[in-house]
Amino acid sequence: MTEWTQSRVRDLHDDLVTLYEPVDREEAHGADPDANPGAGVRQLLTTILSQNVADQNTRRAADSLFERYDTFADIEAAEQAELEETIRVAGLPTQKSARIQRALAAIRDETGGAYSLAFLDAMSTDDAKGWLTDIKGVGPKTASVVLNFHFGKPTMAVDTHVERVSKRFGLVSDSATNEHAHDQLGNLVPDELTYPLHVLLIRHGRTYCTARNPDCDNPVCDAYCTCSGC
Ligand code: SF4
Repeated sequence: MTEWTQSRVRDLHDDLVTLYEPVDREEAHGADPDANPGAGVRQLLTTILSQNVADQNTRRAADSLFERYDTFADIEAAEQAELEETIRVAGLPTQKSARIQRALAAIRDETGGAYSLAFLDAMSTDDAKGWLTDIKGVGPKTASVVLNFHFGKPTMAVDTHVERVSKRFGLVSDSATNEHAHDQLGNLVPDELTYPLHVLLIRHGRTYCTARNPDCDNPVCDAYCTCSGC
């Protein structure tokens, strides 16, 4: 198997762009993380809701949450049972409601009262990731999504599609845990490609490299994949 280098990852990215289309983080998530101080918190809460559930149910739960409560303070102060009911469609309502309220309390403690994650922007990537993952229930994927999507920091979020495709391409070792997959891709993927490669690997995982019955007849896999199952 050809060894993966940053240069080869750049080639993979370019070939995925040819197969799909270019990806622009700023177009999808905005260029200025300070433009709306609450947007980072909203991204964090939505990402907590998205843990282990399909996108459609994440959207329904987020709509329900932000329609029911006017402010983050209202969410933090909500009765647990009411909050669970509000986000139930996202699954794991007990765990996720507790995570949401813990996250809001941690943010308020850190800022002295404001519900804003703007302070993360001034931190190093490792410190910002460490701050987020110190919140019980916030793992490397949730932290990476917030830091990468909202703040443009070079943290590559590894969801189920990214993990599966990365293992089949040999970007990540087969036995890697999700946490180790974050570390391995974090070391390998050039900073400026963390967001587009995340999006493109998800697209490839949904289009060709599905969990069952992957369709291996595509130009990117012809060039890069040596996985044994195809
Ligand atoms: S060759 Fe097949 S199994 Fe390997 S990455 Fe491509 S689609 Fe997935």
